[in-house]
Amino acid sequence: MSRIFHRNPRQNMPVAVGGKGLELIDQQGKSYIDACGGAAVSCLGHGHPRVLAAIHKQVDALAYAHTSFFTTEPAEELAAMLTAAAPGTLNHVYFVSGGSEAVEAGLKLARQYHVEAGQPQRKYFIARRQSYHGNTLGALAIGGNAWRREAFLPLLIEAHHVAPCYAYRDRLEGESDRQYVQRLADELEQKILALGAENVAAFVAETVVGATAGAVPPVADYFRRMRAVCDKYGVLLMLDEVMSGMGRTGYLFACEEDGITPDIVMIAKGLGAGYQAIGAMLCTDRIYDTILAGSGFFQHGHTYIGHATACAAALAVQQTIRDEDLLSNVRERGEQLRAVLRERFADHPYVGDIRGRGLFVGVELVADRVSKQPFDPALKTHAKVKAQAMQNGVLVYPMGGTIDGRLGDHILLAPPFISSAADIDEIVNRLGPAV
Ligand code: PMP
Repeated sequence: MSRIFHRNPRQNMPVAVGGKGLELIDQQGKSYIDACGGAAVSCLGHGHPRVLAAIHKQVDALAYAHTSFFTTEPAEELAAMLTAAAPGTLNHVYFVSGGSEAVEAGLKLARQYHVEAGQPQRKYFIARRQSYHGNTLGALAIGGNAWRREAFLPLLIEAHHVAPCYAYRDRLEGESDRQYVQRLADELEQKILALGAENVAAFVAETVVGATAGAVPPVADYFRRMRAVCDKYGVLLMLDEVMSGMGRTGYLFACEEDGITPDIVMIAKGLGAGYQAIGAMLCTDRIYDTILAGSGFFQHGHTYIGHATACAAALAVQQTIRDEDLLSNVRERGEQLRAVLRERFADHPYVGDIRGRGLFVGVELVADRVSKQPFDPALKTHAKVKAQAMQNGVLVYPMGGTIDGRLGDHILLAPPFISSAADIDEIVNRLGPAV
């Protein structure tokens, strides 16, 4: 039995030893198509030569330099690339080592912004139910998933929750998209008013809901309406694009498709594509300038912020995406993946819904496809599908169980941006018999 307790120690894990492109290989020599990039991480597949070369070059020159003494070329170049591509005035970037750290930094930046702006009482955060924002104590507080929080109460941040934008499940009979969005905007407004607008720091949401609900995109205009409510009350809008960002939806920043700019956006996963541990948080001129004019700097920091090798890897990832126009491929292959899944599962008794954006695709599993009655969570349907898919040589990311009293099983597909049309067909071929 393994001494590592990353996961359930009773569960026997194969040992991963190699990977090339979409393929991952275990110690027994079994090959898997990595159709989820771990958890939407490995967006360029495994062993990408350009990224490996960039890492080797950086390690040979200088692996790491502490940010209290130096900045580095890859960190500066990566920051320039990200801010040039980001919408609006998201011109300032803070590098961290992963998604939870990016969220944690975002929460602190929002709080410090209000302090510097003369409103130190703005401490509460409003987030959404059925969301996941990470596992550090701050990120856990805003996450909309009660069972993950229970053992760790009281948490350090006071967070309140509103409904996610989950039209397929939550839109009322006869309600149009417009009416539905209005209802959600009203709920946010009422929540802000109930807490006292002068006490609310920010509204936090995943642009496209990832792990907890299986790639659920917002309906048109949702974020524009939420942005308007936030603006009315001086509440910041923070978008968590840890999973949905960095090209996963076919746009570098998922919110580009929603036509809005958040005040703060958090990214990770696809940023380093799994080659190095890196995340980042970007903020607008307004946030940055207020802090600069106030105490002068963001009161935050970790040993590995702006890690040179991590930035070199992420820079090579971003350059590859740009130079090979991979976002077009993400959009095309994403359309194909949803179409092939819909065809394959057209009459499947247990497939309730197939949705997503780009190569970020969710398959919902239900006990009854007509009534959408979920499976009993004790059956762990998602885990069974994952295990069977793995047997069939394809890796898909499972999620299920009770989330704030809501039930549901689904699997997430997040194939690499380099996937070909034949790869997509093969993923569905291997997944099909597992469902
Ligand atoms: N936010 C979202 C939306 C995520 O999906 C995740 C990871 N699944 C996180 C934050 C936390 O990122 P990490 O696991 O890198 O800390």
